[in-house]
Amino acid sequence: MATRILAVTGLQWGDEGKGRVCHDLAGGADIVVRAQGGANAGHTIYRNGQKFVFHLLPCGVLSSEKVNILGPAVFVDPIRLAGELSGLHDAGIDADAGHVMVDYRAPLVMPWHWAADQAGGRKIGTTGRGIGPVALSFYGRKALTLADVMHAPEAVYRSWQAYMKTRECLGLPGVDEDTVRQVREAIDVISGLAGDTVAYLHRAQTRGKRILLEGAQGALLDVLFGTYPFVTSSFTAAAALPFLAGLGRPEDFLGIGVVKAYTTRVGNGPFPTEDHTKLGEMLRSTGREFGATTGRPRRCGWLDLVALDYVCRVTGTRALVITKLDVLAEVGEFRVATAYRDGTGKTVPWTRVTKAMEGLKPVYETFHAGAPEPDTPWVKQLVQLIESTLKIPVIGVTMGPETGDATYFSDPWNM
Ligand code: IMP
Ligand code: MG
Repeated sequence: MATRILAVTGLQWGDEGKGRVCHDLAGGADIVVRAQGGANAGHTIYRNGQKFVFHLLPCGVLSSEKVNILGPAVFVDPIRLAGELSGLHDAGIDADAGHVMVDYRAPLVMPWHWAADQAGGRKIGTTGRGIGPVALSFYGRKALTLADVMHAPEAVYRSWQAYMKTRECLGLPGVDEDTVRQVREAIDVISGLAGDTVAYLHRAQTRGKRILLEGAQGALLDVLFGTYPFVTSSFTAAAALPFLAGLGRPEDFLGIGVVKAYTTRVGNGPFPTEDHTKLGEMLRSTGREFGATTGRPRRCGWLDLVALDYVCRVTGTRALVITKLDVLAEVGEFRVATAYRDGTGKTVPWTRVTKAMEGLKPVYETFHAGAPEPDTPWVKQLVQLIESTLKIPVIGVTMGPETGDATYFSDPWNM
């Protein structure tokens, strides 16, 4: 059977290159959906030399024939979304209601969520986009959804007033009334795009439309299966995405995992294969490893097959795309971790327990990279090691930031 629902998710700590892989594969899709996360994501796409960074909008917005959806579980930040929409407009790209839809169930991120995140997210090193605080109010059943504010616009003021009353004893900064006005204006813009995206997707599914679910963050940042508590506040796994979009019968579903040929992490938390030497610095400068959302330098290290084996098992990933092989080609020498040993030299499996990770020593295989071409022996050797360890096929490799720099060995829409 051909694939009808395709999820593209990251298998590391984000920034694997999901945005560009989604953009490559969106050609075969009718609808592109963001299913989780919020403006903490930063998806960079280079198209004809022009750079686009999206935090909320799905990559399908660059193509006028696709319908783009922000699903019910996306933490929608009205000010940022309105900003992205007006950016599209300025670039001459259509962003009207037929082209972008936002689910009316979506919880809204308010400026006071940013304030709380920026004050309280330091231990984890969050992006400061209010994700933890909005998740807290959502699961505490206090969040404002898009439907709530459309029916009762004064709810935004009430929520702001409630924050201003309690913020001082919580040691949180103030938010001025002008910012609240900006939220209201942004909500007016977004209300024009609001709808029942779940019902829309069900109709699309019945008609055999192809749906691309664009993941955000990465499997190791999943709130349940990642390196808790150094994680984001959403479910990021491929298997979760259809459900979060409201596709409870995900027939003909394929979960693709995007894996960077080395590993990066922004923010704090365990990272067994992190490289603090000159080589790690080379990965950072060659790979331009600076956060798309916060501009922070990313921590850099090596591909970790122990962590990947674990995440492949929990996320429902059935095919892989390896990205940024051109960076290894430029760095020359690279490593891949194939096992972990503890202090006594015993081989130990993956554990999410941060304390247990301290003192682990990755066992590395060292490789020498040649030209950045898919058919070269070093790429084939790496692909073979990944496939034989994870027992999952590599269906594509990318060798540069533009769509033309990718080679797909099979078409995931026909798998
Ligand atoms: P939050 O999602 O802003 O709460 O941040 C929690 C952790 O996830 C921090 O380490 C962030 O740097 C990281 N994070 C969140 N979103 C992304 C992303 O899209 N790419 C990479 N790291 C992310
Ligand atoms: Mg990113």
